[in-house]
This record gives sequence, structure tokens and C-alpha cells, in this order.
Amino acid sequence: MSNIINDIKLDYKDVLIRPRRSTLRSRAEVDLFVEMKFRTSQRIYKGIPIMASNMDSTGTFKMAKALSKHGLFTAINKYYSLEEWKTFAASSPECLNNVAVCAGIGPGNFERLSDIINAIPELSTIAITIANGHIQPFVEFVRNVRSAYPNHTIMAGSVATPEMVEELILSGADIVKVGIGGGSVCTTRLKTGVGYPQLSAVLECAHAAHGVGGHIIADGGCTCVGDLAKAFGAGADFVMIGGMLAGHDQCGGKVVERDGKRYSQFYGLSSSAAMEKHYGEVAEYRAAEGRAVEIPHKGDVEATILDILGGLRSTCTYVGANRLQELHRQTTFIRCTQQLNPIFGPPPSK
Ligand code: 5GP
Repeated sequence: MSNIINDIKLDYKDVLIRPRRSTLRSRAEVDLFVEMKFRTSQRIYKGIPIMASNMDSTGTFKMAKALSKHGLFTAINKYYSLEEWKTFAASSPECLNNVAVCAGIGPGNFERLSDIINAIPELSTIAITIANGHIQPFVEFVRNVRSAYPNHTIMAGSVATPEMVEELILSGADIVKVGIGGGSVCTTRLKTGVGYPQLSAVLECAHAAHGVGGHIIADGGCTCVGDLAKAFGAGADFVMIGGMLAGHDQCGGKVVERDGKRYSQFYGLSSSAAMEKHYGEVAEYRAAEGRAVEIPHKGDVEATILDILGGLRSTCTYVGANRLQELHRQTTFIRCTQQLNPIFGPPPSK
């Protein structure tokens, strides 16, 4: 038996989207709002299916307020208390359709999740997120949450293979989070050698999910708006971003000032910085699989949101998609050896 896959697996940077004849007159005609019905919760979602990651600094209530205004979604980090959730729900009820309450699978997670869900009946979406969703206790946790909450929409991940996507959907998840090792502050590939090139993971997992009536989130690895477009083109129903939203006013995390310039701290969920902050230490049996970076502070996230939405509208006009939901059908990828012109060095991060 061969234990090597010889097919080439691709990342976003390895492809471009082929332009097609289009009858659209202007990008303003493109509708980015999508509508989908979830397999098990039977709920109908309407919104722009871009999601802030459940990381400490991006999955904040402030981010949810800014994103929800435009119809975008936020996976709220699991470190907010019940009291903080109640305050948020009371002050921003209009955001509750566009947020998920997140939980891991460790001790106390189920109880905290139940407390929040029971206290806030308008909250309809649960995200169960751990770094490695390929383990059996994770599947069992998803099953337990599903049997306790038959009518809530459940997101679960992260995984990177079609068989795990099917297993999680058949275990009660409506939406599976796909992506291992591609995140901007993730060091899993470095520390463990494990990963899956993200474009191929999305192509394969979207196909598997849709085959059983489920949906997926392409999580991690987007470095620019074009990468979000490629994820949607590959069949992602939602795209989750962390690094692209980092460093804004709405983020959690420290802002430091040096030589008159402001910098924001951004760190991975499994970085030493995160583990020391939340658990007081990095447990002896595990290595950190994330890193911390300092990035120039970017101000209000509003401009970044508009930039992302403008870029996606433009992608749709290049391929003749009237709606974001049609982008997948209109997309043909071209493998490329170079996607950017390097003459003036790497492109700016914003
Ligand atoms: P980004 O958009 O920054 O490229 O990727 C965000 C995703 O990276 C997150 O949603 C999460 O799935 C993943 N991620 C965040 N922090 C860590 C970490 O410390 N370790 C690993 N392995 N993945 C992380």
C-alpha cells in the first residue's frame, strides 16, 4: 500500500480565478448576501458569510458589533463570562443572529455553554472549536451538544479531510470548520509536520459536506481578499479570517506604542502567550502550536470590511456572478507559478 498521495494539493497562492464573459455592468449590482438552510437545525441563515475567527483578539463583542452592521458573522471567543454575554445580549440584540457562542471540549465547557444558551434564548448558533477535530472525544462532544440542543445551529472543527467532515455532519454538526495548519499565527506544520494545503482541503471538504446536505467554513490561510474569493470559488459556504482582521480598534489584546507608532499584539489560540494568559502555563505534555506577533495598529475595522466586500464584488463581476452564492459555479481555477508581480517587493498587508 502506498502511503503517499501523489496528486498535487494546492494552496490559494497556487491558483488564479479565470475571468469570464460577464453581463454585469457594475460591481454595485453584485449581491453578497447569501441564504442557506442548515441540515439539522433546519434554520435559515441570511448574511454575508464572512466570519471573524474565535481567536482572543478577533472574536470580540466589539468586532461583532462592527461586522454585524454589514451582515458579517463573528465567532465569539470562549473567554467571555456569562455576565459579559448577558450585557452584550441586552445592549446589542440585533447582533445575536450574527454571532456564535464558542466552546472547546475540556472540563466545564459544556456547562458554560449551556449557561449562556439558556440565559440568551435568541442566540441560535454554537461553535465547537478545537485545534484538532479528528479525535473521537470531539465527535462525541458534538453528538452530546446536538442531543442537548436539537434546534441550534452547530459549527464544529477544525478538520481537513472529507471523511471527518461527513462524520461530523452525520453526528449533528450543520457546518464544519475546515483548515489545519494554514493560519497566520499557527505553527502546527512546523511543530508537527501535519497539515493540508487549504485550497484542496476546501475543494474536497465542500464536496463531501454538500453531498450529505452540510456546509463548511474555510478557516485560516487567507492573506488577502483574493484568497477569500478563491475559498468561495472552491465551494466554501463561509470563510473565517483571523490575521486579516487583527490589529484593529475592535480587537482584544494589548496595543503598545514605540517611537510614536502603535502596534497590536496578535497571538495564536495555542501559542504560549494564549496558554499562559488563560491557564497560567503551557502544560508539560504539549508544545505551543501558535506564535505571537506585533503588527502596526490599523485603526477602525470598517475600512478593512469595505475593502473585503469591494474586492469580492469585483471578483464576482470578473466571472459573471450576480450573487456571491453563484461564485462557486462560475469559478474555474488556473494553476499558476506566480500570482503577484514582485518588482516593488511584497504587497502591503493592507
Ligand atoms: P488566519 O486567518 O489568521 O490565517 O487563520 C485563522 C485561524 O487559524 C483560526 O480561525 C484558527 O483556526 C487558526 N489558529 C489560530 N491560532 C492558532 C494556533 O495557535 N495554532 C493553530 N494550529 N491554529 C491556530
